[in-house]
Amino acid sequence: MTATILDGKAIAARLRAEIGAEVSTLRAAGGPQPGLATVLVGDDPASAVYVRNKHKACAEAGMHSVDIKLPASASQAELLALVAELNTRADVHGILVQLPLPAHIDAPSIIAAIAVTKDVDCLHPENVGLLAQKGRQPRFLPCTPAGVMHILQVSNTALAGANAVVLGRSNIVGMPLSLLLVSADATVTIAHSRTRDLPALCRTADVLVAAVGVPELVRADWVKPGSTVIDVGINRIADPAAKSGSRLVGDLAYAEVAERAGAITPVPGGVGPLTIAMLLQNTLHATQASQ
Ligand code: NDP
Repeated sequence: MTATILDGKAIAARLRAEIGAEVSTLRAAGGPQPGLATVLVGDDPASAVYVRNKHKACAEAGMHSVDIKLPASASQAELLALVAELNTRADVHGILVQLPLPAHIDAPSIIAAIAVTKDVDCLHPENVGLLAQKGRQPRFLPCTPAGVMHILQVSNTALAGANAVVLGRSNIVGMPLSLLLVSADATVTIAHSRTRDLPALCRTADVLVAAVGVPELVRADWVKPGSTVIDVGINRIADPAAKSGSRLVGDLAYAEVAERAGAITPVPGGVGPLTIAMLLQNTLHATQASQ
């Protein structure tokens, strides 16, 4: 079997075009231009690339963005004051503090200081709570998990009653994704570094999502034939054959897993582009809700 490749780049391009059209409609009706503020502390090169891509995507969708960079030495108090200011700015509808923050900053306090209505990364405990409780209407959907769900939806992946295994339990990906999969009526198992016999567990999955950050961890014989396998991992590994000396791989041994799965996302060009599209969507929703 050769898996269907779920082309995240193309799926995200369609979604971004729809968001761009909604921005035009909003503005034509006299609404504000959606605005996203990003805060980058320090000079981590990967974070800088992520932030740059977010600004580019905002511009393409007709949104404006505010690019704030602070030195790695910035204090907790400075960062809190900045967030407080952004909370009050009428032209800023979404605030994204790029993680990870330097070790001397208490990231949970910074996240908790973001206005819940501007928390477009959906990391504030109140917004996670709305996501977690049955019968509540979430204010935002977390970007990467929502991107995974969008790929599953547009590829008509059956979720009701399906066995879903999520590898990873982080606040950003694994845990909130598990909540979204439960909401979609999947039977979800969350696996992590202490899980016993991962390969056997993964083989039970109709839908397997890898979000661990371990290059090519998931092998073909971990995968149920015909299942849908989503790779969230983004890992840079050395590659002497590449011009830059390195290349990006996911958490799947892609070539061999693609021989066994029914559908698979590549890295790059899978979940990554959807994460940015969902950030734009949340910024648009925050703007609409602010009216
Ligand atoms: P974290 O490091 O916060 O979490 C990793 C999770 O994987 C933890 O729950 C950890 O378990 C688990 N884990 C680690 N090693 C193993 C192992 N050998 N077996 C089983 N479980 C393991 O990472 P993130 O969730 O932030 O990111 C995961 C990956 O996704 C990274 O590659 C990251 O770059 C990528 N990413 C991609 C995004 C995108 O847009 N495509 C967005 C965000 C992240 P434990 O809890 O026990 O430590």
